[in-house]
This record gives sequence, C-alpha cells and structure tokens, in this order.
Amino acid sequence: MCGIAGTSDTILAAPVLYHLLHALQHRGQESAGIFVWDGTSVQKQKGYGLVSEVFSDADLKRFTGTVGIGHVRYPTTGGSKPENIQPFHFLFRGHSLSVVHNGNLVNTEALRDEYAGHGVTFSSTSDTEVIGTVLAGELVKGKSLEDAVLFALQKLSGSYSVICMLDGQLFGFRDPLGIKPFCMGKTKTGGYILASESAALDAVGAELLRDVRPGEFVLVGTDGIVSSQLVKAESPAHCIFEYIYFARPDSILDGVPVYDVRRKTGEILARESFADAEMVSPVPDSGTASAVGFAKQSGIPFREALIKNRYTGRTFILPSQEKRELGVRMKLNPIRSHVRNRSVILVDDSIVRGTTAKRILSLVRDFGAEEIHLRIASPPVIAPCYLGTDFPTREELISSAKTVDEVRDTIGASTLAHVSLSGLVEASGLPKEYLCLGCLTGVYPLEIAGEICEKKKMCVYRR
Ligand code: AMP
Repeated sequence: MCGIAGTSDTILAAPVLYHLLHALQHRGQESAGIFVWDGTSVQKQKGYGLVSEVFSDADLKRFTGTVGIGHVRYPTTGGSKPENIQPFHFLFRGHSLSVVHNGNLVNTEALRDEYAGHGVTFSSTSDTEVIGTVLAGELVKGKSLEDAVLFALQKLSGSYSVICMLDGQLFGFRDPLGIKPFCMGKTKTGGYILASESAALDAVGAELLRDVRPGEFVLVGTDGIVSSQLVKAESPAHCIFEYIYFARPDSILDGVPVYDVRRKTGEILARESFADAEMVSPVPDSGTASAVGFAKQSGIPFREALIKNRYTGRTFILPSQEKRELGVRMKLNPIRSHVRNRSVILVDDSIVRGTTAKRILSLVRDFGAEEIHLRIASPPVIAPCYLGTDFPTREELISSAKTVDEVRDTIGASTLAHVSLSGLVEASGLPKEYLCLGCLTGVYPLEIAGEICEKKKMCVYRR
C-alpha cells in the first residue's frame, strides 16, 4: 500500500503535492510527508495523521521550491515507527537524495545484511531506506544516475514504484513486473507529475500522459521526460487487488479504467451466480461499482440498503468486540424501509478475514431483511500478499481453510458466491499472464521463500 507523488514545475511544489497526496489518501492514512528542493537544500515536513492533519496552510507556505516529492503511508514492512515515515533522505558527497516508495521488497533482510556488512548503518526498519541505500551506494562510486537505477532494478526484488529527488532533479522507476501502479502527467503550467494513480493527476488538473512502464526509468528534465527502458520481464504482473479494492474507481491503471473492471465483474458475477431477490445493494463504497453491474445484468432493481457515514474517516482500532460492533454502526447504517421483510443481494468487493461481512450481515438482518444473498466481486482470498497489500497469514484468511459453504455459515449469509477467477480476469481486459494473482491462487510472479513461484524471464537493456 502507500501513495507516492512528485512534481517538477514552474509553480510552487508544496500546494500541488498537498492536493496530490490528498487524492491518494485512500492508499495510506497513518502518516504523510512532503520534501521540497529550495535550490540549495531540502525542506522537510512529515508526521502522523491524514494529509489535512499533518499540513496546515502556514506549513505549506514555508516551502519555497518548485520541485518536490510526497508520500502517504499505510504501514506494511517495518511497522508503525516514526523513523519509518517517508520520504527518506540521504546525504553523500555534497549530494542530497530523497526517496518515496510504494510496494514491498521481498529481499529486504538479505540486502540489509549485505550493506551492514559493508559498514552501512540503518536508522529505520523500512524497505524504502534499503532502496535509497542501494541507489546512494552506486552514486557515491561515481556511477551515472541511469546506471545506478539499472543496478537497483537488478538488485531489488519485490514490488516498487519509486520517486526520487537528487538535489533538484526529479526521477522515478518501477519494478520490472510493474506490480504497483505508477503514472505520469503534464500540468497546465508546463510541469510534470509522477503519481501512484491517475485520479491524483485529475485533482490538480494535470493530463495523464501514460503509465510508467515496468522496468522503466523516467527523468524529468527542463525539456520534458526522458525515458529509458532498462529492464523488462517477458510480461508484467499488475496487482489484481488494485482493481478489486485498493485503487480509486476513478483511476485508470495501466490503461484500464478501474470502475469499468468493477462494474464488469458485477455483470459477470450476476451471470455466474444469479439469486432470485427483490433488490441489489452495494456495501458502500467498495461494492458500489460491482453492484451497479450486477443489477444491470440481472434486471433486479438497484436499491441502497446501507448508508455510509462519510465523516467516519479513519479506521478506528477498537479493542473490544463490543466496540468493534459499534465501529461498523459508526460507518454503516441500514435503511429500514428498504430492507425490512425483503430478500436482498448484497455485493461487496472481497472477503479477507470475514469479520466485516459477518457484522454487516447481522446488522442488515437486525433491520428486518429476510434473506441476504452475499455476492463477492473477487474469488476467495486464499493466500497472503508479500508484495504490498496488507493481507494476514493463511490462518487469518477465512477462505484459506474453509469452503465457500463453510464461510457462508460462519458469516450468516443465506447464500454466498464469488466471481470466478476467469470471470475477474475477463473483466480486467488484461491477459491472465499480465496480472499478479498471488492472493487468489497462491502462485506468485517472483521467488518468495516457501511459496510457489512462476518466475518470469527478465531481459536487461543497455544503451
Ligand atoms: P474482512 O473480511 O473483515 O477482513 O474485511 C474485508 C473488507 O475490508 C473488504 O470487503 C474490503 O472492503 C476491505 N479490505 C480489503 N482488503 C483490505 C486490506 N488489505 N486492508 C483493509 N481492508 C481491506
């Protein structure tokens, strides 16, 4: 998880970064950070909280430069320590390197040991610090930026969309499988933006140019973007869960509009697992697009069963079961007159631990629903993610050990059905071999200790 952004423009960077990060807030709510190059050094601010909590108007006015990078964090590798808040900063031989990263390395420990063996000390437990260390280690030897990035692309294993600022120069690169999203855009003021998702470009009125390609290095110069395809896998492995749940529905990832994928998945789900009911309702907001598709395909009226309180905002960590029940009620409230004595098809994006579905079903039943047919716009999540999505262990994944019927009984649905894997792939419009389906199949696109891997061949280009 996490959201990254960078800008190099003719206008002040900080307000632009604020809006980019605000549009990427769904990718991480734990902390936020902005670094700006003022012409001679880096101006920094980062802290815990939402973007609007970390930066006041007065804070943004302190930044004076036109080049900068920013980050919103959802902790995966490294845990919730203050030293893990991004961006990271490295000083070497009079140069300043700032780094933000979305993804997860799977060889962090091996790289930390290797560099520690050469005398490097790490100040955090974040894999982003490892990425910066690898880059800085090559730049210190006098290598060109492109050669340093090529070295990093060969050295780092896992998912990584990375934006850096070397002194006042903005650049980015994406892992050879293109696992996490990454795009670039052009602003009306003659500048360029790098960001996790295209919805962030929309937020600042920038035009989406294209996605950063897997294994590509992009350098933002005064004359535009200079691109070098440094490494390439035989095919990419874009994260399917971005399309299922994580990305904004108004984003276009790797040429594919997310909303369309979700709506088409709902249509296919209706063809595969029709239920005779009086209404189709989403679990808002994650199930909305798929419920629209399900209703259209099935001919059953779309009618909202649950209203989401849009001010709930942050995910509260509530310690007791009683408080957790309250948590669902804080977020969602059924419309009694819509659900009472009715048979309802409830559509959601996924079941991970199964606790959310169980609570929602019991809530809708309490408000008088007679039958609740749960339809899920993803196949069962059966395996952990090592590549940047915060999924628990197999033991915690309800669908890992239980059959669909057992899950149905555990969560208390009248019927339960998931879209098929082939149906989801069809909805994505991408070939199956272009996707990382690790969480749904247990087969991963790169080597992870103890897991099944279908490794893709890599090709290294040299200019
Ligand atoms: P649960 O089954 O209780 O773990 O909750 C699953 C619901 O949480 C899904 O319907 C999604 O809307 C949302 N969700 C999916 N994946 C994640 C994740 N990795 N972290 C947090 N929420 C998630």
